[in-house]
Amino acid sequence: MCVNIKSKSVVGAADSDNKGMSALRSDLHHVPREKPPFTLGDLKRAIPPHCFRHSLLRPMARRLAAWPSYFFLQGCLLIGVRVIAPECGHGAFGDHRLVNDAVGFLLHMALLVPYFSRKDSHCRHHANTSSLDRDEVFAPCPKEKVRWYYRWFNNPPARVFTIVAVLLADWPFYVSVNASGRLYDRFASHFNSFCEIFSDGERVHVPVSDLAVMVATYASPTTSRRKGYYG
Ligand SMILES: [Zn+2]
Repeated sequence: MCVNIKSKSVVGAADSDNKGMSALRSDLHHVPREKPPFTLGDLKRAIPPHCFRHSLLRPMARRLAAWPSYFFLQGCLLIGVRVIAPECGHGAFGDHRLVNDAVGFLLHMALLVPYFSRKDSHCRHHANTSSLDRDEVFAPCPKEKVRWYYRWFNNPPARVFTIVAVLLADWPFYVSVNASGRLYDRFASHFNSFCEIFSDGERVHVPVSDLAVMVATYASPTTSRRKGYYG
């Protein structure tokens, strides 16, 4: 019985080999083997000369015009991550804390934001919203602490500039140097476990979050180089 099965499989393999060879032969039959009646130079001469002229400005201009569309489409996709990620910190993604923390940790990694550090300060923000002394972010500034240069920002162009600057840079500056955050006596950063943002019990969370951001910062360009920037 075994011998029969074996011999059948050998015959089957030989049949498929023969079929493969005949298919290859029929394909090769269509491949031209004679020298073509034109040269490479003829081909080149048939192409209009302007196709060989290099333009630096035109492709650059096209690329610059297309780039905002890419930003827009990428933003439409990534805003979803940006919405879900903080909800994990609120405990609103799932019923289990472990699930919330695991998903939140990974999504914040993709956004290059330290998850636990941000979660700790954000919980304090919700517990003290609009408190002049204790809110962590967007805290109203007492009049005597308003910096002198803010009077130059009380006009429409400066307001537009402020809105654009906030949209582009406020988030990374808030996380890294506590810009627009609560006024502390010493330098504060979500990457520094010894700053005043964190209580003693929270300090251990900071290096874990920092490490995740470092890994993502290293892995992102490395993966792009290996897989290609477009996928
Ligand atoms: Zn919140």
